[in-house]
Amino acid sequence: EERMVTGELQQEDSAVELSLRPTSLNQYIGQQKVKENLSIFIKAARMREEPLDHVLLYGPPGLGKTTLAAIIANEMGVQFRSTSGPAIERAGDLAAILSSLEPGDVLFIDEVHRLPRSVEEVLYPAMEDFFLDIVIGTGPSARSVRIDLPPFTLVGATTRAGLLSAPLRDRFGVLSRLEYYEPKDLCSIVERTAEIFETSISPDAAAEVARRSRGTPRIANRLLKRIRDISQVKGEEEISLGTTEQALKMLQVDDVGLDHVDHKLLKGIIDGFKGGPVGLDTIAATIGEESQTIEDVYEPFLLQIGFIQRTPRGRIVTPKAYQHFGIIGNDA
Ligand code: ATP
Repeated sequence: EERMVTGELQQEDSAVELSLRPTSLNQYIGQQKVKENLSIFIKAARMREEPLDHVLLYGPPGLGKTTLAAIIANEMGVQFRSTSGPAIERAGDLAAILSSLEPGDVLFIDEVHRLPRSVEEVLYPAMEDFFLDIVIGTGPSARSVRIDLPPFTLVGATTRAGLLSAPLRDRFGVLSRLEYYEPKDLCSIVERTAEIFETSISPDAAAEVARRSRGTPRIANRLLKRIRDISQVKGEEEISLGTTEQALKMLQVDDVGLDHVDHKLLKGIIDGFKGGPVGLDTIAATIGEESQTIEDVYEPFLLQIGFIQRTPRGRIVTPKAYQHFGIIGNDA
């Protein structure tokens, strides 16, 4: 079953998202601090006529890392090349990509923490001094050749900076953490998307979509697309609050943007472990999900809204979450 409210990319998102991507820093809504920093670094690099320092973007899925990477290339006036950690299997794959770059180009590596170790090691001198040391042949006839590269900017994306090896992390000059969007920024994103969809949406409906989208543009856009369908079928001229509420109910997105997976996670801790504390791996085994997915995808938002807390002895469900479910908790 597909999740409506996950920040992870789903099949139906891709085509729509391309048309929704802002192309300049000015069009990129929210993330004020990240934008301010980047805009200074970009200006400085352009003045020196040098490529931008390598940039690491990290934060939960769907917050706009890919979009921002493409914007960096645009603002630098260079080409944007995109790949991902798991797609680069061998050092030779990386060599092929890097040696095909034009000077100053941006190479975006999504899920950069998933680069194979052997590839990572080839990447270090490439990032630092723009050359590759490649071993050709095997056994006694093996020799190492040095290939000079055009200077480039690596933009890496990951859900958590802590997933990167220290030597890789240290080679990024700029580390930018994307935060969940404020409701008002998300509301602007919903209104912008509606405009691109050539639909109108009432301000209270836009605010409602924003409020229930877990601070995540990808989710807001996905929900809006579904709500628009329902509104159109009803023959509305403007997406109304009523239709929005009805659609979100049909989509099983609750009042604060949680769905059945969140409910399963929270209820699992409440019912199985009296609200915790309980270790991550135990939770994962209980609800049949991977620890890593829980930690990177499900949990960050629940921590953000204060429904879960991390303690040295494990996760606990807070009184606030108990209240949300209308149950009296241990200490609620
Ligand atoms: P992932 O890490 O899963 O690849 P991501 O963080 O790279 O996700 P994007 O694909 O860049 O996410 O963004 C998701 C969608 O949200 C895109 O359609 C993008 O246009 C839109 N979006 C993201 N950030 C903004 C923003 N600041 N303003 C307007 N739209 C945005």
